[in-house]
Amino acid sequence: MTRRSVTIVGGGQSGLQLALGLLKDGGYDVRVVQNRTGEEIAAGRVTSSQCMFDEALQNERDIGANFWEADCPTVDSINFAVPAPDGSGAKAIDWNGKLDRYAQSVDQRVKFPVWMKEVEKRGGTMEIHDASVDDLETYAKESDLVVVAAGKGEIAGMFARDDEKSVFDKPQRALALTYVTGMTPRPEHSAVCFNLIPTVGEYFVFPALTTTGPCEIMVFEGIPGGPMDCWGEVKTPEAHLETSKWILDTFLPWEADRCRDIELTDDNGVLAGRFPPTVRHPVGRLPSGRAVMGMGDVVVLNDPITGQGSNNASKCARVYMDAILANGDRPFDEAWMQATFDSYWSYAQYVSGWTNALLQPPPPHVLDIMGAAQQFPALAKRIANGFNDPTDFFPWFAVPEEADAYLKSLAA
Ligand SMILES: Cc1cc2nc3c(=O)[nH]c(=O)nc-3n(C[C@H](O)[C@H](O)[C@H](O)COP(=O)(O)OP(=O)(O)OC[C@H]3O[C@@H](n4cnc5c(N)ncnc54)[C@H](O)[C@@H]3O)c2cc1C
Repeated sequence: MTRRSVTIVGGGQSGLQLALGLLKDGGYDVRVVQNRTGEEIAAGRVTSSQCMFDEALQNERDIGANFWEADCPTVDSINFAVPAPDGSGAKAIDWNGKLDRYAQSVDQRVKFPVWMKEVEKRGGTMEIHDASVDDLETYAKESDLVVVAAGKGEIAGMFARDDEKSVFDKPQRALALTYVTGMTPRPEHSAVCFNLIPTVGEYFVFPALTTTGPCEIMVFEGIPGGPMDCWGEVKTPEAHLETSKWILDTFLPWEADRCRDIELTDDNGVLAGRFPPTVRHPVGRLPSGRAVMGMGDVVVLNDPITGQGSNNASKCARVYMDAILANGDRPFDEAWMQATFDSYWSYAQYVSGWTNALLQPPPPHVLDIMGAAQQFPALAKRIANGFNDPTDFFPWFAVPEEADAYLKSLAA
């Protein structure tokens, strides 16, 4: 086989994973164009809460890139709670489902700089540059394939929105992250503690590994215009921490109790923002007529409510890597790009479907499912493990009659 050259624009979860995978066994010239140095990323602001479940972690193991597996705290279960509507501070729903295999979250400020060095160690090229469409023209002339994995970067806009696959045109949640130490651990075993506050939003929290060592990541998902959409006037890290505590004191007293002694991991351990979930067409056409291909968040950008973005990015990179390897000497033409994305979408459509469903007020059959999990441990476990493979939610989570039949079968 002739040596193929691949340029990847964007060195994040999907871009670096694909680069490391292609470089693992040689045979490919790989260049990654990244707009920040490793030092800038490590010293910068947090970008995600990046909790990754077993299938995604396995993709990293398979390419020998799981450098933090021994040091990163494990997430062993999903715990779901809803406060009682009477304001008493009691829980109306509370259940725990054990994961078959643990999840882990390694701060992207820790992971990406090390992976960037690893790209070079494996013989790839790292170019530090904020790529423009003109640059893409150059890369497309020089390479057999150009993959754009720039996440939420502006350049993603060169891929047209897919109006059929995109359900929303506005942000569905006001998002915030707070990285802290000093939180009281959950008894028994660790969890993503997922709290749903009807009409207000969601709060989830889980252990992770950051630049200063183990920490907990608090994730706030406020319904726009509601009381948890409250980050606009928050200007300092201290005020961000105080706002995080205020939300818990106001809506989730059991979570507030765990947070009496929390401190920020660092002044950059905070983030607030919002974006519209968007699916884009996978093939971008350059002014010259050459085609480039989108990957990860560029093509399927979901709200973080189900914590799937890094998992999706990893699975997308895996599908693309396998397709590149299988393509041999054949051209990476538009038909190949579309077919490769379609293969990823045959999975990702379920992740988007489930995630988008959770952004809307829950219909009665979903309330039934989430309530029944308290009574049926097998259901709690199935929901928990659905975070690893969301295709398992279909059709029973989506179709009321299927939900009803499944719940009846559990009760029989
Ligand atoms: C608040 C929040 C919480 C989240 N929590 C989770 C979670 O718990 N679990 C989970 O799985 N996912 C989570 N995610 C999503 C997850 O972080 C992303 O989906 C994932 O990182 C996407 O990977 P990617 O490779 O597509 O892009 P990224 O990892 O974002 O990488 C893109 C890279 O491209 C670079 N770049 C951008 N433009 C250019 C350019 N023009 N030239 C060169 N480089 C460029 C960027 O600097 C970046 O390094 C969360 C996201 C947010 C916002």
